[in-house]
Amino acid sequence: MAKKATNHPAARAAVQRLQGLQRAGVTHIKRAARASRKAAPAPVPAPAATEVPNDRAAALAAVRKQVAACTRCPELARSRTQTVFGVGSPHARLAFLGEAPGADEDRQGEPFVGAAGQLLNRILRACTLRREDVYILNILRCRPPGNRTPSASEAANCREFLDAQLAIIQPEYICCLGSVAAQNLLGTNAAIGRLRGRFHDYQGIKVICTYHPAYLLRNPAAKRQVWDDMQVLMAEMGITLPEK
Ligand code: URA
Repeated sequence: MAKKATNHPAARAAVQRLQGLQRAGVTHIKRAARASRKAAPAPVPAPAATEVPNDRAAALAAVRKQVAACTRCPELARSRTQTVFGVGSPHARLAFLGEAPGADEDRQGEPFVGAAGQLLNRILRACTLRREDVYILNILRCRPPGNRTPSASEAANCREFLDAQLAIIQPEYICCLGSVAAQNLLGTNAAIGRLRGRFHDYQGIKVICTYHPAYLLRNPAAKRQVWDDMQVLMAEMGITLPEK
């Protein structure tokens, strides 16, 4: 017998994402217009003059405002210079998910702008992508003092914002950079070495996990495996890479 719509795992996941979005202050999102989305097209009603603008950039701006005022993690709210929301295309097919802002990101208010960010830019270029083509965000939106690992409660406090950003952007793919991103997103304790190299599912989004660029700076030999992971991802996305 067919499952009731609301009992279906995909329906439950969609409802959870929308509830998170609502709690983060977003009231309208434009329906996805991608050919790969299977949902039947439905007419989008013209917004009333008093409605919140329904484009993705405006929806992201509304969540960004909530994030900037967030004090859920008292230690982080006290020590941060500013929150670090996310950067890139609101229509990105691919989102890169890191751990948390470092000192450079805390100063500049943008994820992955330090040494690890420069390496991420090189990885993107090797994939024929630019930062503007993808979306880059973190598990946390505040820098943990001394770049310590985010605590479970900090990750939980920030999860609503992560899910809100993903629900607005609706990426088809997420690339988790490092174990903190992968374990938090997927809710697992498995080591990054075991998670990498294959696709996982997060609420209908295809997730690939690979080593964090900061790890690559300390262990350049692991670049080979990251490149293997990127090739798997690009092939799945239908992006042809130039012959090396
Ligand atoms: N490392 C991360 O995980 N995220 C950043 O934004 C910068 C460095």
